[in-house]
Amino acid sequence: MIYQRSSALFAEAKKYIPGGVNSPVRAFNAVGGDPVFVKSAKGAYLYDEDGNKLIDYIASWGPLILGHAYEPVIEAVIEKARKGTSFGMPTEVETALAKLAVSMVPDIDKIRFVNSGTEACMSAVRLARGYTGKDKIIKFAGCYHGHSDSFLIQAGSGAVTFGSPNSPGVTQGTAKDTLLANYNDLQSVRELTNANKGDIAAVIIEPIAGNMGCIIPSEDFIKGLRELCTQEGILLIFDEVMTGFRLGKGGAQEALGIEADIVTFGKVIGGGLPVGAFAAKEEIMDHLAPDGPVYQAGTLSGNPLAMSAGLAMLTELDAKPEVFKSLADKTAYLHKGIEDVLVKNGIPHQINRFGSMMSVHFTDEPVVDFNSSAKGNNETFKKYFHGMLREGVYLPPSAFESYFLNDALSYNDLDFTIKALENIVDELK
Ligand SMILES: *Cc1c(COP(=O)(O)O)cnc(C)c1O
Repeated sequence: MIYQRSSALFAEAKKYIPGGVNSPVRAFNAVGGDPVFVKSAKGAYLYDEDGNKLIDYIASWGPLILGHAYEPVIEAVIEKARKGTSFGMPTEVETALAKLAVSMVPDIDKIRFVNSGTEACMSAVRLARGYTGKDKIIKFAGCYHGHSDSFLIQAGSGAVTFGSPNSPGVTQGTAKDTLLANYNDLQSVRELTNANKGDIAAVIIEPIAGNMGCIIPSEDFIKGLRELCTQEGILLIFDEVMTGFRLGKGGAQEALGIEADIVTFGKVIGGGLPVGAFAAKEEIMDHLAPDGPVYQAGTLSGNPLAMSAGLAMLTELDAKPEVFKSLADKTAYLHKGIEDVLVKNGIPHQINRFGSMMSVHFTDEPVVDFNSSAKGNNETFKKYFHGMLREGVYLPPSAFESYFLNDALSYNDLDFTIKALENIVDELK
C-alpha cells in the first residue's frame, strides 16, 4: 500500500495544527510513521486519501458500533440539519434521547447531556463533590477519564497520600485531591480510604478498562469496591464512556451485575457526533443546576444534530439487542483466530476480551493492571501494527488501546484479518 498523499497531508497539517492532529493518539507516536488520512468510510471499511481500503477495528474509538455511515443515523442527522443546527433553547429530541437512555440503563433516573466524555467525567466528579461535600477522589492508574485536570495525575512519591500532575499545567493544588489506586487491587483502595477517612467524595473507574488495553476486573475486586464505597459513604462512578451501550443495553453495570451511583457516557451515545452524558438517581441529579447548586452548563449541550444521531443509534440498539451477542461472537472468533496464529508461531502474547472490546499484548504475564500492561513488548507491537496496516487492517495505533468491533464486520473480514496476521507473523519472531 502507498501512503504518499496521507504523508503529504500530514506534513501540511503539522504546519498549522500542533503535531498535525487534534487528539494525540492519532499521530502514531506510539508506533512510528505517518498517520493515515481518511477520505470516507462505509460499514466496516475505511477509504484513505491514497485510495487504500482498510478494515477498521477502532470505529472512531468506539462510537460506530453498527459501522460507518450507518443509514438511520445519517438520515436522522440530515433531516435535522435542514431544520436548523442549534438554538440554545430546549428541543423535544433531547427528552426523547434522555427517556430512551434512562429506560435502557439500570439504576438511573435522570441524565444530563454534554459534548464529550471528558466533560461528562469532569462534571460527574463535580456533582459527586457537591453532593457529598467532600473534596478528594480516587482513580486507578491506567484508567482514562478524559483530559480534565483532576484526571491527569500519576502516582506521587507518597502514593498513599496524594498524586502528582502528569502533565505540565496541572497544578499541585489539583493533584493533591486525586488519589491513585491500582486496578484489580482492592487493598490499594482500602489503604487510601483508611488514610483519608471521611475525605473522599468518589471513586471513579472504567468498569471494564479500555485505556491500558482491555482489562477485566476480577469479581472480588469490583464487588469489593462496591461494598467498600457503600460502607465509607463514597460515591462509585462508573465511567462507561467506552462500555455504555457497547457491552449491552445496560453497559457494564448490567454485564457485571453491579450498580454504580453515577454513570458517565460518551462514544456510542452520540452515534458518531460529539455527545457525552452523566446520569444517576434523581436524588443525586437534583443537586445539579438549575434545580440545585452544583453548576454545569453548555452552549451546544443537547445539540439537535448530536441528539438525533444518538437517538437513531440507541433506537437501533434498543430494538435489536441481538447485536450485542453478534458482536461478542465476532470478537471471540477474532480472538481465537489471532491466538491460534500466535501460538503456532511461538509468539508470547496475552489476549484480553470482554464483549466487543479486545486487546493483544506481547507478553507472557497476565495483563491485569497498568504495570502488567506496560510490560508488553512495544517493538513487537509496532511490527504487528505496521504489518497489519500494510495488509489492509487498521488496528489501534497503540498497545494501550482497545479494539472496538463494529457489527458491519463480516466473518469474511475477520478471516481476512487472521490471514493477514499469518502473512506477517514471521516479522514478529
Ligand atoms: C474516550 C474516553 C473518555 C473521554 O472521552 P472524550 O469524548 O474523548 O472526551 C473518558 N473515559 C473513557 C473511559 C474513555 O474511553
